[in-house]
Amino acid sequence: MVEITLGKNILGAHNKVIVAASNSEFEKIFSKSEQNLLPAIKKQTVKDGIKEYNLGSYSVFAVRVKEKQPALVWQQLGGKVYKAVKHLPAIKVCLATAKHYVFDFAFGVELASYRFDKYHTKLKADDLPKLEKIVLTNSGYKNLDEYKPYAGLANAVRYARDMINEPANALTPEIFAADIKRLEYLGLKVNILDEAQMKSEDFNLALAVAQGSQNRPKVAVLQWLGQPESDEITLGLVGKGVTFDSGGISIKPAANMGEMKQDMAGAAAVVAAMKAAALQKIEKNIVAVVGLVENMPSGSAYRPGDIIRSMSGQTVEVDNTDAEGRLVLADCLTYIQKRFSPKNVVDMATLTGAIVVALGHTFAGLFSNNENLAANIITAGNTCGERVWRMPIDEEFDKMMDSAIADMRNTGGRAAGSSTAACFLQRFVDKNRSWAHIDIAGMDATDGKKVLYPKGASGFGVMLLNELVKKI
Ligand SMILES: [Zn+2]
Repeated sequence: MVEITLGKNILGAHNKVIVAASNSEFEKIFSKSEQNLLPAIKKQTVKDGIKEYNLGSYSVFAVRVKEKQPALVWQQLGGKVYKAVKHLPAIKVCLATAKHYVFDFAFGVELASYRFDKYHTKLKADDLPKLEKIVLTNSGYKNLDEYKPYAGLANAVRYARDMINEPANALTPEIFAADIKRLEYLGLKVNILDEAQMKSEDFNLALAVAQGSQNRPKVAVLQWLGQPESDEITLGLVGKGVTFDSGGISIKPAANMGEMKQDMAGAAAVVAAMKAAALQKIEKNIVAVVGLVENMPSGSAYRPGDIIRSMSGQTVEVDNTDAEGRLVLADCLTYIQKRFSPKNVVDMATLTGAIVVALGHTFAGLFSNNENLAANIITAGNTCGERVWRMPIDEEFDKMMDSAIADMRNTGGRAAGSSTAACFLQRFVDKNRSWAHIDIAGMDATDGKKVLYPKGASGFGVMLLNELVKKI
């Protein structure tokens, strides 16, 4: 993790310095004595347009940047610069431009420098990045207070990535729930429902999914009341937290099944968004419900053909035990509406393989019954770079979920698999409730080619929800 601090002069104790500055500010940021050195500058291009300037005993890595670029461009620049210089020791990064751009640059470095090394026991010092500290220099601010919201969000993204990268033997529903409970130190209210409480609250669909596993299920309920004088809950978040999805009796093929430890990425993003709200002290009331279960085949597992009565009272015929996420979400949706009646409900889940076929690893799928909420989510995604593409929900898709023997079944066949899944969820949403479902199945992990997302868990959705919270 890179430490972000403040400094006055650009040169000084560090003999390697990065300067990122907008064109008009570029030379102004050097102090008088440093200005004297400028004519002696010899420059050479290192990487990605980053120039190295040799100033006597100093090396200055400089990036000239066009003015007035979106925040995301500055974040990506921070990530690129980090990648280019991470193996250089003792680096000071100086930025001269409007202060929020400086902060965006530093935020980009924080996202790009994330690593998950804890299970490596033989890493050599040479394998590890040496850049430890970034010193921000700008006349527009005197302390780092204004950086705190960025630091809080970066912290939350790291939290989600850590949770998602953990293997399923180290992150059971119980361990995940205990970890969420610890977030109370930030002022969040956290209530963990155990299996007995889930039974008395009728989380019957979630319990059915969990019944094949030795690891018992939990539901975590989080509240951030940033506007205590108001009774209104602006946003209710629901997350799918399947800590491992074998498919159950409808078992998945062996290839890449290990990736199914990531089937809790929706819950991780939702919990991390709550963490970010607390760290940023957002003045809104937000609640979250995440269902934490493991889907395993065993003698006690639920079966295809089983009929289960949901918390909402509607009955569901299980057609395929691998379509378990929507079962967990359905009860969580019913619970959050009944208990908190939030103005808007947004659920996030690694729900369907079909959304990966449709949108790849470029967009998450967005389904919504409300134009305003959908527009806000799309704008939020474009702003922070976690983009979504609106997909249809339709009566014809909804009909495909009908069952001959119960109110509905849990799969609608191969065709329009992401849309029929969304229609299933909609059956658990109150008529006039503003609701959106975000299918992140293609976005939970990356190959490391996107500059702000190192290989492995992406934490996709944390920034998107954070941006949305500020908008609605
Ligand atoms: Zn599944």
